[in-house]
Amino acid sequence: MLAATHAITGAIIAKVTPDPILGYALALASHPLLDYLPHWDLRTRHSRRPLQHTVVISLVDAGIGFFLGFLIAGNSVPPLRLLATMFVAQLPDWLEAPYVVFGWKFPPFSWIKSLQHTIHKKLPFPDGIYTQLILIFLLLLLSK
Ligand SMILES: [Zn+2]
Repeated sequence: MLAATHAITGAIIAKVTPDPILGYALALASHPLLDYLPHWDLRTRHSRRPLQHTVVISLVDAGIGFFLGFLIAGNSVPPLRLLATMFVAQLPDWLEAPYVVFGWKFPPFSWIKSLQHTIHKKLPFPDGIYTQLILIFLLLLLSK
């Protein structure tokens, strides 16, 4: 799943949960559920592009998600809580980053990488984008 989709989901969770701790728990739980939904992403794990490109693309992806999350929930959730919930929604990907970026191929990074690899369901572009757009649309509807 795109990091942006995880962040937007986190923002919607923060918007609909009055208790921050419950919001963080739901945001973390949402990550594997979203990754299990067939999707297209930037192939940060297997790409042959230079590592710096992967890092920049991933940070832009995450940043777009934070920006859109603030557009969606910035008026109803305190900024720090909103940012934290979006970050937690992306957390497994951040925890996997040292494996990919620094080559830290040892636990817990290797465990997170193989767990995420097992859960992910891929779908080619553009169908794998449509699933994410439909998901976000439905979550936005439910959060109204
Ligand atoms: Zn993931």
